[in-house]
Amino acid sequence: MTPPETLPSLTVRASSWAGLFDCAYRWEGIHLLKLRNVVGLRAALGTAIHAGTAVFDQSRLDGSGLTADDAAGAMVDTLRDPENEFDPARDDITMSEAERVGLALVSKYCTEVSPNYDFIAVEMETKPLDIDCGGGVVVRLTGTMDRARIRRLGKGVGIADLKSGSAAVQKGAAVTKGHGPQIGTYELLYEHTTGQPITDDAEIIGLKTKGTPEIATGTIRNGKRVMVGTDEHPGLIEFAAEMFKTGRFYPNPRSLLCSEKYCPRFSTCSFHD
Ligand code: SF4
Repeated sequence: MTPPETLPSLTVRASSWAGLFDCAYRWEGIHLLKLRNVVGLRAALGTAIHAGTAVFDQSRLDGSGLTADDAAGAMVDTLRDPENEFDPARDDITMSEAERVGLALVSKYCTEVSPNYDFIAVEMETKPLDIDCGGGVVVRLTGTMDRARIRRLGKGVGIADLKSGSAAVQKGAAVTKGHGPQIGTYELLYEHTTGQPITDDAEIIGLKTKGTPEIATGTIRNGKRVMVGTDEHPGLIEFAAEMFKTGRFYPNPRSLLCSEKYCPRFSTCSFHD
């Protein structure tokens, strides 16, 4: 428990860790300076697919009996939500294509994938975890486990995280690269919230939204160790603490997200080409 004089200096959502180590300058723009990008339709499609799959899995847990058709309805409602704002210039997909892909993936997920899992929680709320990094810097890890489930396999308990995207599946397997810090944060938060250990590897369930809709899985080991480190090697939390202490957020013009489309700092950042 954190004493009152060490209130968190910084709150970091689990889902934003990967971005911090991709381009810290961009991360600072989004999370500290609150710059915003207009979301494209493909990103909204991802949100809609996750909404559909989540209502289905939650219904399996609480026995409310929702069907794959109900999940498809939730997906369409989220996709066509009038509050969504898109920038057509940024989209490489039309609304009818997005709906077709979303329906195919949600239906496939509900009938072929979800029944293989024994979930014990869906998008679980977690208790914030404060980590004292020294020098007066306290990092608070926080966040609902957006899009993630807790699964049981035999006696093991692990994270299963759904990731959608145009390249979420490659060569028949879910892409796991870059997801370790978020998964590690989820593992820390689960253990902190429940007092129970994570005892199994984590799994990414990838849903590919471009081309033929595909769903496949991939394994992530040692996500927690990536975050907290070992006796010999520091973890990412320690590196992040240095950035937070010094206020130095380094640019990375070689980031795959270094473009006007994905970086809200692009117009003022002088580090890119
Ligand atoms: S424009 Fe490129 S280098 Fe600059 S903040 Fe954005 S991603 Fe980083």
